Amino acid sequence: MGLLDRFKKVKDGLSRTRSTFVDRITKVIARKTKIDDELIDEIEETLLSSDIGFDATGRIISDIRARVKAEGYEDSSMLRGLLKEEIAKYLIEPNGTAGLSAKPKVIMIVGVNGVGKTTTVGKLSYNFKSEGKNVLIAAADTFRAAANEQLKVWADRAGVEIIQQAPGTDPGAVAYDAVSAAKARNVDVVLIDTAGRLHTKTNLMEELKKITRVIRKVMPDAPHEVYLVLDAVTGQNGLMQARQFLDAAGVTAIVLTKLDGTAKGGIVIAISQELKLPVKYIGVGEGIDDLQPFDRTTFVDALFSEAEEENNIQGSAAKEA
Ligand code: GDP
Ligand code: MG
Repeated sequence: MGLLDRFKKVKDGLSRTRSTFVDRITKVIARKTKIDDELIDEIEETLLSSDIGFDATGRIISDIRARVKAEGYEDSSMLRGLLKEEIAKYLIEPNGTAGLSAKPKVIMIVGVNGVGKTTTVGKLSYNFKSEGKNVLIAAADTFRAAANEQLKVWADRAGVEIIQQAPGTDPGAVAYDAVSAAKARNVDVVLIDTAGRLHTKTNLMEELKKITRVIRKVMPDAPHEVYLVLDAVTGQNGLMQARQFLDAAGVTAIVLTKLDGTAKGGIVIAISQELKLPVKYIGVGEGIDDLQPFDRTTFVDALFSEAEEENNIQGSAAKEA
């Protein structure tokens, strides 16, 4: 997928957020020609009502106030650009070094029920496969009979292999088999899908720890990454649920799904600020090619994009071609 297609996917996925958050900002700014305290207060209120979170909003606004003073901005039309820069500053990008040389690289996918773990495993397989990598999926959500079937459908769509066992099998055993098989078969990436709910929440955390312990018997430095999947639609509530996973599962990055289904895209900023973890991928639709790597420039440009900017990007893409 080319750069322009990626941008378009992200931009389309953010359309609901753009039409609430960014349009509101634009209206606030348009009301005045000169920057004053009151105008910045109104921008602060808009940020607060957009799931960006209290901490991140506070930082962004105090930075903007400081810059307006120090750099002498007067014209309110400068605020849009300032806001873009400040929002980008607080988004944490993945550093991309975890497990870089590991073979297989083992990635465990965790999160509560319904956030999009299985779908993400399917889309990730497709992404890795498209990069020419050899992928093996481990079906370690063994608690629901339907889970295996759903994952098998994704594995087939992506054209990758899957290791699964009868429902009720120990999830650690499935993960162990998959990592062992991957080593034997010279696989590049193992994706472990896990359950989102057991009988009680404590049990789930214990189960995730156990999966980790068991795969370390085959590969002591695995899992190389643990992605916590969060559903953007749940906004700030999702962040609360997230915390219990951080330590128990050793989460290394966030996958934020369903951005296309919500106006709460500002949650990306709250995640970076409150969980101090990079957002690695964003889900912008239900299709197999709808999981996009997150980078803050693309994200902010897509969020604030207007027809004019899109033309510029199309213009430069045309020049590249
Ligand atoms: P799991 O319980 O965490 O494994 O969640 P699933 O992978 O089964 O997904 C639950 C629902 O969310 C399914 O209907 C998916 O199609 C949907 N879903 C997952 N990711 C996205 C996304 O990025 N956008 C949209 N619109 N739907 C998604
Ligand atoms: Mg699932």
